Amino acid sequence: RAKQEGRNTYRLFRADMHRQDRGRLELETALRNTAETGEGLGVHYQPLFDRDSGEVHGAEALLRWHHPTLGHVSPGDFIPLAERSGLILPLGERLMHLVAAQQRDWLDAGLAPPRVAVNLSARQFWQSDLVAQVRELYAAYDLPAGQIGFELTESILLDKQQEAIHTLQALRDLGCRIAIDDFGTGYSSLSYLQDLPVTTLKIDRSFIQKLGESRGSSAIVAAVTGLAKELGLRVVAEGVETDEQLQALSRYHVNLIQGFLTGRPADAATFAERYLVRDGAPA
Ligand code: C2E
Ligand code: MG
Ligand code: MG
Ligand code: MG
Repeated sequence: RAKQEGRNTYRLFRADMHRQDRGRLELETALRNTAETGEGLGVHYQPLFDRDSGEVHGAEALLRWHHPTLGHVSPGDFIPLAERSGLILPLGERLMHLVAAQQRDWLDAGLAPPRVAVNLSARQFWQSDLVAQVRELYAAYDLPAGQIGFELTESILLDKQQEAIHTLQALRDLGCRIAIDDFGTGYSSLSYLQDLPVTTLKIDRSFIQKLGESRGSSAIVAAVTGLAKELGLRVVAEGVETDEQLQALSRYHVNLIQGFLTGRPADAATFAERYLVRDGAPA
């Protein structure tokens, strides 16, 4: 009897795995089509506020995917798949063009868009022609130096450190700001930071959200912000959701605030309406 149940359970498990595989395959096929055509791809922009002046001093570009039958698919589901399958390369290239074209539109409309940061995954960062692609993007859309910057996670920078430094420096030479995303969750040695040509640390939201509740998180925020100050790096607190968290951050060296409290990611039209100004006056 027990044996029987065990076997049924195993069979159910197999059927379930099969379904999951099929689901994943369907998703990958759909994503491949989208990468080819660009249909259903969009960008949301989330504002970064200067903590002291309250002004918008940047935005993060976040990829959005809407599929006709699957509906809205979350980046948490399709980005890992895109990375595994290599589709992140064509998708990432599309995103960069969408962002650059949007910046150009805003500039042409007489608006003053803030610098926008684009997320790069490992495969994107390690493309041999990344710097050339970025240089061509700036030229094709005639964008001011530094108008588009990048966010990378620590783990990307652990490999091939000299090559990473070389690529980062080339991007810095184009005026790009470079942020280390989700900082504190990776394994980079702190001493390595001083050799990296980066401008910004984004403290991972897991630490922000436990601020005040867990002593460990407060200690990490204190250490990271103290180090950043010494190294002359800008600090972004990401994932700020409550007034209490904002308040708790006030005693640390934090330059920029990003989170649902101050502004959720929004489509370009909504972002422009809320945050962009014309010639220094509200649009
Ligand atoms: P990330 O780069 O750390 O982006 C921040 C994520 O946190 C976004 O989720 C954003 O909506 C969310 N967020 C912002 N403020 C808050 C908050 O106060 N509370 C909470 N709970 N969440 C907040 P999203 O858009 O779902 O993106 C998830 C991840 O997908 C990103 O994490 C990034 O790693 C990846 N991703 C998104 N777009 C791209 C892209 O164009 N290229 C690559 N390579 N990765 C991307
Ligand atoms: Mg990011
Ligand atoms: Mg992040
Ligand atoms: Mg994050």
